Amino acid sequence: MNRQIKQLNHYIKISNNTVFFGGAGVSTESGIPDFRSENGLFKAKQVYGFSPEELLSRTFFVHEQELFFRYYRENLIALNAKPNAAHIALAKLEQTGKLQAVITQNVDGLHQAAGSKNVIELHGSNHRQYCTKCKARYSLEYILAREIIPKCAKCGGVVRPDIVLYEEQLNSAVTNSAIHAISKAELLIVGGTSLSVYPAAGMLRHFSGGALVMINKSETEADTSAQLVIHGAIGEVLGRL
Ligand code: ZN
Repeated sequence: MNRQIKQLNHYIKISNNTVFFGGAGVSTESGIPDFRSENGLFKAKQVYGFSPEELLSRTFFVHEQELFFRYYRENLIALNAKPNAAHIALAKLEQTGKLQAVITQNVDGLHQAAGSKNVIELHGSNHRQYCTKCKARYSLEYILAREIIPKCAKCGGVVRPDIVLYEEQLNSAVTNSAIHAISKAELLIVGGTSLSVYPAAGMLRHFSGGALVMINKSETEADTSAQLVIHGAIGEVLGRL
């Protein structure tokens, strides 16, 4: 792996615009399990009787609200999770001017906790909650201190996480800023994602820079179009930069 780390360092050094695109694998090293993984699917069916796609759907939020919030609270919120070596390395790169943006599919806020400023959250964030009725904004702490279905202090409406549920559209402003960042990038580092989750795979098509680097434990379809492929844990790889 030494030769590959050296090559990655070189790419970062010569690039004037670097973007990182990350998936669930970036957070699993912080102890946040990937609910879309095989294990996550098994657990969801076993414990809740449904798949994550059903439990986190718009339909369940509307019609099976208690189950939705139970699953959400028990599986998507990890209060004790701390940024890992990957989050910290990316924040440092940004601070030294060598990283222009982080695009993430995670909703845990760990990039910001590590100090990253320009974070594009494709699927929203646990740290933003809002009232479905009056649109009042709340923190994660607010809902954690409330009953299972959290209610708005102002109007009594249901307070929900500002995350993109299954059957819901991605926020177009957020999507556009991600595409804009990717299309301007000279170096695109993709890590901790199999690229199977919408819209990851499609977004990569907007990249026209010189070097695509894939960092993932297992092979991905994009490996063949990458200039550099590193098969390893993302925290370990980025931690060695
Ligand atoms: Zn309200």
